[in-house]
Amino acid sequence: MKIINVAIDGPAGAGKSTIARAASKELGYIYIDTGALYRTVGLNAVRLGVDIHNDDAVISTLTDELCVELKFVDGEQRMFLNGEDVSTAIRTPEASMAASRVSAVPAVRKYLFDLQKNLAKSNNCIMDGRDIGTVVLPDADVKIFLTASPEARATRRYKELLEKGMDASYEEVLADMIKRDYDDSHRAIAPLKQADDAVLCDTSELTLEESVKLVIDTIKIGISK
Ligand code: C5P
Repeated sequence: MKIINVAIDGPAGAGKSTIARAASKELGYIYIDTGALYRTVGLNAVRLGVDIHNDDAVISTLTDELCVELKFVDGEQRMFLNGEDVSTAIRTPEASMAASRVSAVPAVRKYLFDLQKNLAKSNNCIMDGRDIGTVVLPDADVKIFLTASPEARATRRYKELLEKGMDASYEEVLADMIKRDYDDSHRAIAPLKQADDAVLCDTSELTLEESVKLVIDTIKIGISK
């Protein structure tokens, strides 16, 4: 049977993970959140106390001892760093910034490339990230570029952090979001950009339910072609 791969890319806070998770459930695919891989490498660098703004220091953390694993527990993706479940620890604003920073280091992208490729090879999946349709899965069956205005995205992320009981200010979340957008789309390697053959889905004015429906409909149309 043919394996179906769906690539969803877009800026931070566009609702990629929530929407992709819901769409995967509906379609019976697995959902792979690749941002979590970069977050895990970023968290590791922060924990080791290296200067994450220094590429060589970041590269020095990619040792043979480093073990980054993505596992499915009850159908949900969990991230393990050297055997420890860090699925919650990688969600702090500090880990977000560290992820964005280490993801600009080519050696980090190379380190995580095969892991992503292999997961897609053997599973019907929706994989989300920044460079899935352009670099990781250029032959994906369906490519979606999911976006929303920075304010809409910051409002959602701010509410999410509050719900998780984390301390946050809206202004800080918005400023972080704008900075991450800028860094992600201006870096030399695998910058965030819409693949030529990706369908643009803008969710600024849509509810979550409407966004999920738009993405599922786009996937169904894409795989029926
Ligand atoms: O998607 P998420 O916000 O969890 O990603 C964290 C960071 O990891 C992003 O800001 C981005 O810099 C980086 N990332 C990436 N390529 C991916 C997924 C995430 O560079 N495929």
